[in-house]
Amino acid sequence: SMTLERVSQLAWNKGDGLLPAIVQDAGSGQVLMLGYMNKQALRATLTDRRVTFYSRSKQRLWTKGETSGNFLKVVDVAADCDQDALLVMAIPVGPTCHQGTRSCFADAVASEATRLSFLAQLEAVIAQRIGDRPEGSYTARLWSQGLSRMAQKVGEEGVEVALAAVTQADGALVSESADLVFHLALLLRSRGLSLTNIVQELEGRHVAKP
Ligand code: AMP
Ligand code: ZN
Ligand code: ZN
Ligand code: ZN
Repeated sequence: SMTLERVSQLAWNKGDGLLPAIVQDAGSGQVLMLGYMNKQALRATLTDRRVTFYSRSKQRLWTKGETSGNFLKVVDVAADCDQDALLVMAIPVGPTCHQGTRSCFADAVASEATRLSFLAQLEAVIAQRIGDRPEGSYTARLWSQGLSRMAQKVGEEGVEVALAAVTQADGALVSESADLVFHLALLLRSRGLSLTNIVQELEGRHVAKP
């Protein structure tokens, strides 16, 4: 990843001292926007941990969110293979697009991978419910009933998935599967694990048996 020391090694002289910077949502992988950075903008981005561009229209440094408050909190910055483009992983504070959408590419059809990454957001919501225990939260209630209750729910939902697969329409199968995945995420969490551990396991098998 990019450090202040490496900034001067980038291909600034290729163009006009500006490099394109793609900003991606660190949680979901969704592409949020594209801007341009000069050396100074990149240094500010790395130092302040808020995405800062060089605005070609304003002709000055522009910290995204400076008037709207919709900052992009920097998680990581990386350069591409030939050091002439930047990828910024960030956590958006509010909508990134000045037109009010989460992404400037809101019209783009989300990829399968982007949609799957909602599972990570789901786990974040579960963590929030468990932490805040809001009134009427099903997640918080189930959590308070303990591991064995969550294990029982996973068993029930597993059976419901199996039954739906052989006796019911797609809608019911999808719905029961959603129940299963949700309860599984909760059960894993009660053991200090997450769906990411499952992905890791599957990845490992894939590498072992190509
Ligand atoms: P902000 O940086 O969010 O405080 O917005 C300040 C101004 O920057 C807006 O009024 C727009 O002119 C421009 N702007 C903000 N966000 C974007 C964006 N995602 N893409 C292009 N221009 C933007
Ligand atoms: Zn390149
Ligand atoms: Zn926009
Ligand atoms: Zn169910």
